[in-house]
Amino acid sequence: MSRVTTIIIGAGQAGLAMSRCLSELGIEHVVFERGKLAERWRTHSWDSLRLLTPNWMTRLPGFQYDGDDPDGFMSVPELIAFFERYASSSAAPILSDTNVQSVERAGTGFRVVTSTGEWSASSVVVATGYCDLPTVPDASRRLAPSIVQIAASDYRRPDRLPEGRVLVVGASSTGVQLADEIQRSGRQVTLAVGRHTRLPRLYRGRDILWWLDRLGVLNQGADSVQDLQRSRRQPSLQLVGRPDHASLDLMALHSRGVRLIGRVRDIDGHRVCLDDDLLATTAAADIKMAEILSRIDQFIARTSIAAGPPEPFVPTWPLATDAPAALDLKSERIGSVIWATGYRRAYPWLRVPVLDVHGEITHTGGLTPEAGLYVLGMNFQRRRNSSFIDGVGDDARTIAQHIAQSVVRTRVA
Ligand SMILES: Cc1cc2nc3c(=O)[nH]c(=O)nc-3n(C[C@H](O)[C@H](O)[C@H](O)COP(=O)(O)OP(=O)(O)OC[C@H]3O[C@@H](n4cnc5c(N)ncnc54)[C@H](O)[C@@H]3O)c2cc1C
Repeated sequence: MSRVTTIIIGAGQAGLAMSRCLSELGIEHVVFERGKLAERWRTHSWDSLRLLTPNWMTRLPGFQYDGDDPDGFMSVPELIAFFERYASSSAAPILSDTNVQSVERAGTGFRVVTSTGEWSASSVVVATGYCDLPTVPDASRRLAPSIVQIAASDYRRPDRLPEGRVLVVGASSTGVQLADEIQRSGRQVTLAVGRHTRLPRLYRGRDILWWLDRLGVLNQGADSVQDLQRSRRQPSLQLVGRPDHASLDLMALHSRGVRLIGRVRDIDGHRVCLDDDLLATTAAADIKMAEILSRIDQFIARTSIAAGPPEPFVPTWPLATDAPAALDLKSERIGSVIWATGYRRAYPWLRVPVLDVHGEITHTGGLTPEAGLYVLGMNFQRRRNSSFIDGVGDDARTIAQHIAQSVVRTRVA
């Protein structure tokens, strides 16, 4: 059995940031990755995907975007190349094609069994991703077998879909991008809209994330929100990163011919039952967006920061009238359904008692109740941007400090 101080599971941005922080503190470690570095981006992205965060937000401990387009949005191959340079810059000790099969307690440390051998370590950092597996509603099991259904993580491009019209379920960042791309390819798209966070790409002459960064919204601490669980359940931002910096909201999709319907409630063969909630969800998203823009206006007034004039606010809810109560996929000639309904996590290999009733790792800021076991990259782990490239570094530094203190305590004892 090989021995090391710390084992990191996963070589995405979280695992790489963790490795960098441990290296800076001189803590011996290895990173196990079941595929290749940044495997999720290599295998779970559609061809046209670009980051929704601008390049200047690609900041990790000791490394950041240094190209000549800070306001642009990276394509997936560019992001993978960025992560490869990051890993090389600190000679990150990544063991690729090494799947972690079990983690269990062994004395005060852990025994970790992988597809390439057994290891023991004093500490383990789980960095296997917040967006590990797609969430697909149970109703999908009742869909007629003649309809092809896929999760968004399996979508690549329109010509890989079977003939016919397409139902996209979910209108956050992924859902609106897929609906737009497929509609532009000449297929009629119907978009089932659930809760979403509407935002314009640009506001008063600057990227919306620049304003939210300045307002301190993105790195707001978990201890400063009233209801952390509720904040963690907030729908993700309905934003896309495009070279033309255009917004992609329900209004833009509607003007391109995408049909908007309410949330999918249930399915029986070809019949899809819908909630009568399109008006309520679009109105809620309008109100939330108006609040955020008003905060930006107040910030501009308070600081006299240079900004363009406010753009007129155009609500989306008037588009939401006449939404149908049900959809007959056969008569609508819809041949495929894409579930863009979010992500979940599963840890069947984690044999340490830290999972709650929902199978999530219990933690406070990444520290689990089991000494020496950490998790990194969770949604709102310590800050609102914890699961973002720009936010994971701060959490990695905190965990690295914690590990360093344990190492010192062990050596002194
Ligand atoms: C479609 C999409 C777009 C996004 N766009 C942005 C964006 O624009 N900007 C932004 O900041 N964030 C974005 N995110 C959020 C976030 O940055 C990504 O989810 C990112 O992949 C999270 O990095 P991570 O390292 O936490 O997890 P991952 O990238 O998921 O990495 C986890 C790694 O662990 C490995 N692994 C899992 N299980 C095991 C095991 N048992 N043994 C060994 N290895 C294992 C996986 O192969 C994977 O490589 C986006 C997310 C999605 C889904």
